[in-house]
Order: sequence, then structure tokens, then C-alpha cells
Amino acid sequence: MDSRINLDILRAVEIVSKQKDSKITYTLRFRDKACSRAEPGQFIMLWVPSENECPMSLSEISRRYAAVTVRAVGRGTKKLCSMKAGEKIWIRGPYGRGFTIQGNTNLLVGGGTGIAPLIPLAEKSALSGRDVTLLLAGDSSDSIPLLTRAKNLKKVGVKVVYATEDGTLGFKGVATDLLNHLLKERRFDQIYTCGPELMIKKVYDIASAYNIPIQASLERYIKCGINLCGSCVIGRYLVCRDGPVFDTTMLKEVKEELGRFKRAPSGLLKKIV
Ligand SMILES: Cc1cc2nc3c(=O)[nH]c(=O)nc-3n(C[C@H](O)[C@H](O)[C@H](O)COP(=O)(O)OP(=O)(O)OC[C@H]3O[C@@H](n4cnc5c(N)ncnc54)[C@H](O)[C@@H]3O)c2cc1C
Repeated sequence: MDSRINLDILRAVEIVSKQKDSKITYTLRFRDKACSRAEPGQFIMLWVPSENECPMSLSEISRRYAAVTVRAVGRGTKKLCSMKAGEKIWIRGPYGRGFTIQGNTNLLVGGGTGIAPLIPLAEKSALSGRDVTLLLAGDSSDSIPLLTRAKNLKKVGVKVVYATEDGTLGFKGVATDLLNHLLKERRFDQIYTCGPELMIKKVYDIASAYNIPIQASLERYIKCGINLCGSCVIGRYLVCRDGPVFDTTMLKEVKEELGRFKRAPSGLLKKIV
């Protein structure tokens, strides 16, 4: 990381391109030295003036560019998705603990916007000589974010497999159905996952049954991003500081809460449905 940059101070970056990369997401590309050196799985806090500050995973980490892939769910993300190339956004970070590339055979399981941090991870892992399988899941082929980027990863040797609930691409079913099939066929040294927490919990249970180490990027309500407010607490951990990537040992500790409860903006525990 560049020691001259104070990562906690907002920096303005210009959107260099904006692309609708699926029916549900837009990818905004920008240039930022600190983000270009981030680890896959780290996140930035992205301030959308007059709306909100949103934690976002980096979906591209390259020497020239970084990017976020955004689904419009509320005020901040709707505004982000309406912005154009040439406009400015404000960012701080990257923050948190990213994925650690381990083992020789890696299986990456992503659902929805959880696919975003897995794309740079798949790329980095394949370029470091690992055997990488990327499992992407969504309701339908057109709702899988970053499909073109994923297909291009074949050039660096990544095997890409798909699960769609309506059967429009690849296996008909959900991510964990296909995961079960893959694990019956062969062994992987490490599983990485990101997506809806209920999916993560199931992937964790399956990985545990096969005794495969797992790293999962968790999504909690992150307000400050810098270990102050405690809104992203899970068990004894803060997702912004200790995560967002949790390893097998950490996941085991929080498994009673995982996929069952999370904190609302008020701090109250609410059921995950
Ligand atoms: C580590 C991390 C990485 C993420 N990466 C991505 C990504 O790559 N792409 C993407 O589209 N989304 C990502 N999210 C989710 C994204 O941060 C929220 O969708 C966004 O903050 C919602 O802001 P809003 O103003 O649009 O929504 P609001 O109108 O404020 O709320 C709408 C919904 O979004 C949730 N939400 C709101 N603020 C936050 C917050 N600060 N942290 C978590 N959830 C929030 C609320 O619980 C609510 O259900 C990530 C979240 C985390 C914690």
C-alpha cells in the first residue's frame, strides 16, 4: 500500500466508464493507486454525495483500473447506478482482510453481487498457477453479474461453471446443488465464497462435511468501516476489521449467527430471511 496515502481520507475519483454488465448490475470503473494494489475481497467505502456511504467490494483490481459492480437496492446504490462516465465519486479504503490464496485446487462459489470480489480472486489465483474452478449462480443467465469478464477468465485457464434457477445457463438449480455435484466428482483444496448469507451458510456446511477449508466474504451493515461503530459485529468479530473474509476457524465460531441473524441499522438483531 502507498504509505503516502491516508486511506481514511475521502478521495475523489472520476468514473472512467460505466457498463450495464447484467440485468441487475452496473460496473463503474475508475483509477486509484491504492485500489490497484488491493487484495481481492477487500472493500472500499464509496460516498455518494447527498445519499449514502456504501461498502463495496472491488470487482476489478488491475494496474490501471479498479471497479465496483453495483446493484441498486436503495438510495445510495440507485444514485450510483444512474451516474455517468466523467462524474466523480468519493472513496476511502481499501479496507479489511481479503482472500488468502491457498492450496493448488481452488473452487470459488459466487451468487448475485457476491460474484464481484471472486472475479479478481479467480484471475489472481489462476495467474499464480492454481487450478481454478469458478461457479457462478443466479436466477437466470441475464442476472449473473460480470458474465463477460468471467467468460474471459478462460483465457487464463479458469474453468467457469454456471447454475441458474430457470436453467437458462448451465446447471438448472441453485449454487449449492451444483457444488454438491462437483464435490462428488473431485476434491478441492480450498473453497472461497461470497453471496447471500443463506447461501454462504450452506456452502460452509457442505465444505465442513467434506473437510475442505473455506474462506467466505460476509456482508453485514457496515457504517464506519474503521472499527469504531460496531454495527457490523458478528460473534466477537467486526466484519470491517476482521473480515469481510472469514476463514474456517472464524466461521465455525460464528456459525450459530451465520445465515440466521444480522444487525439492522439501529443495532438490533434481526432474522435473516
Ligand atoms: C463488505 C461489503 C461488500 C459489498 N459489496 C457490494 C458489491 O460489490 N456490490 C453491491 O451492489 N453491494 C455490495 N454490498 C452491499 C452494499 O453496501 C449495500 O447494498 C449498500 O450499502 C446499500 O446502500 P443504499 O443507500 O443503496 O441502501 P439503503 O437505502 O441505505 O438500504 C437498502 C438496503 O441495503 C442495506 N444496506 C444499506 N447500507 C448498508 C451498509 N452500509 N452495509 C451493508 N448493507 C447496507 C440495508 O440493510 C437495506 O437492506 C456490500 C456490502 C458489504 C458489507
